[in-house]
Amino acid sequence: MSAFARPASAPLAVRLHERIAREGPISVADYMDACLTDARGGYYTSRQPIGASGDFITAPEISQIFGELIGLWAACVWQAMGAPTSVIVAEFGPGRGTLLADAMRAWRSAKAFADSVSLALIERSQVLRETQKETLRGASQPIRWHETLDAVPRGLPLIVIANEFLDALPVRQFVRRKGVWRERCVGLNAGGRLAFTEGSTVDDGTLPEAPEGAIIERRPATGRLLASLAARAKEAPLTALFIDYGHERSGLGDTLQAVRHHRYADPLAAPGETDLTAHVDFAALKREAEALGLKAYGPMPQGEFLIRLGLLERRDRLIAAARPEQRELISSGAARLADPSRMGVLFKVLALASDGLATPPPFGEI
Ligand code: SAH
Repeated sequence: MSAFARPASAPLAVRLHERIAREGPISVADYMDACLTDARGGYYTSRQPIGASGDFITAPEISQIFGELIGLWAACVWQAMGAPTSVIVAEFGPGRGTLLADAMRAWRSAKAFADSVSLALIERSQVLRETQKETLRGASQPIRWHETLDAVPRGLPLIVIANEFLDALPVRQFVRRKGVWRERCVGLNAGGRLAFTEGSTVDDGTLPEAPEGAIIERRPATGRLLASLAARAKEAPLTALFIDYGHERSGLGDTLQAVRHHRYADPLAAPGETDLTAHVDFAALKREAEALGLKAYGPMPQGEFLIRLGLLERRDRLIAAARPEQRELISSGAARLADPSRMGVLFKVLALASDGLATPPPFGEI
């Protein structure tokens, strides 16, 4: 590091400019990583992003039914594992802790399961860890927080839940130029502002032919995550549920997006101050999981998944018990999660499991 490098306390935008001026353009993945998880100025590290007053809203924040149904799903999965007396329920990126709080309410009708659970929350953000502690303070299960899955104890049955987690993991982007793929990078333009540029050629033999100017994305962190799940699935029963937005078939295209105050923004305009995500390639996820020996089910559209788990019945029961002024909110929340034109189709669900377990609900025949 040069003697003139800014201290870590300088704003992230300033430090990124200096880093690029010093080292040259950085990959889109390194840019995303810095923007999201920089120890001081990273988006998740430094702020409270989720909710009406934040930047975006997620399924568990839209309707309590989401967490309740996933809670019941977890209880069914535990039954299929042979109802072990000790099971870890791990959530990746639990946000405000709302999904688990709603799941726990559903566990009141699954007491043997509730008594078997210990919770592992995998969360890098201190700000969100504090919110999660507050949301889950009434929990009867032991809760531990971890930086990564590697820190979660091994050898015990494991149920993993991840809603809108994978989309926050950095993607590399490649641009097709004159018959070769080049790494898409973030550099500085003539005016000294952050701008997309193209770096060195990459040829690992796995990228397809594509027309001039095409962009393709790869997310290296999912490979590491899947390898870690696959290793655990060989030691003890494991079932994992990934819910996210993305595409069912691998394809070309730039899906990097920035969201601020519930609107799309320029991904380069305010590093660390906007949420940066990219779509999940469910086909690639499934292919990689299966190659590692995991069973994969889905992807199933979120609307179908929730309706098969009982969304409409639960909605109707909540409406019947609600005060008149709450009914519309319950109904519109359920519709937003399941309608094909809202979150029902863009969001998809993929379940992964160790070999030898029954098909997790609701992926079996009905
Ligand atoms: N699941 C929640 C929150 C989604 S936002 C919900 O549905 O509301 C993404 C979550 O993942 C946040 O909690 C964020 O802090 C966390 N996160 C992002 N990148 C992470 C990483 N690399 N490791 C651990 N947690 C991460």
